[in-house]
Amino acid sequence: AEELFRKSDKLNVIGQLAAGVAHEIRNPLTSLRGFVQLLKETGSEGNNEYFKIMLSELDRINLIVSELLTLAKPQALNFLPKDISKLLHIVIRLLNVQANMQNVQIVTEFDPGVLLVKCDENQLKQVFINLIKNAIESIPHDGSVTVAVHRVAPQNVMVRVTDTGCGIPEGLIPNLGDPFFTTKEKGTGLGLMVSYRIIEDHGGTIKIHSEVGKGTVVDVILPLEQPEGGKSTKI
Ligand code: ADP
Ligand code: MG
Repeated sequence: AEELFRKSDKLNVIGQLAAGVAHEIRNPLTSLRGFVQLLKETGSEGNNEYFKIMLSELDRINLIVSELLTLAKPQALNFLPKDISKLLHIVIRLLNVQANMQNVQIVTEFDPGVLLVKCDENQLKQVFINLIKNAIESIPHDGSVTVAVHRVAPQNVMVRVTDTGCGIPEGLIPNLGDPFFTTKEKGTGLGLMVSYRIIEDHGGTIKIHSEVGKGTVVDVILPLEQPEGGKSTKI
């Protein structure tokens, strides 16, 4: 936990800068991509391969820029009580397409009832998109990702994402969440870093357990919305 704290501390300093730069890069990038696309369509056949490479490299820059942008805190984080199960259902529906393509089954195990978490909905969605995506990507083909939601003492909820994927070698565990740490050919190495930051902003924690060849378990613990009563300040 200490390790995570140190990392996100550093992040607060460089994160805002990175997000600011990302924001400035985005507009010129968009116009650049548009003109490359145009040249590809009007240009000679012989250059087609080059244009394809340019477009895919521009898309890659765009992905990195988008992930850096999520580091920028919106002017005001909009913390509202949301049902965590509902939020997860929306995220899972989004990711089912990618899962199906890899023959990965997304299974849900949700405690019944409404579990309210005071959160910035979009930021929290981003966390679970990142975690479930990582789970899917760890499975080359055929496997399952289980998303479980359980109420845990004293007044928390645990979201556990379990995959039957490749697992993470023990030696690499300390690198998780470091900026740009990735083992993927097309990875950005920003997903976990952003996720740690957001969960910390929500007063929660992330813990990762993994076994090579068996799979990975990611536990996100978040405080549940305190039931109203007693502490409301009426004037
Ligand atoms: P990216 O997905 O772009 O590589 P992340 O920050 O999301 O960046 O993840 C960093 C690295 O952590 C991944 O490249 C991978 O090596 C490892 N990792 C994260 N989640 C999992 C998982 N569920 N199974 C196996 N490896 C994982
Ligand atoms: Mg990722």
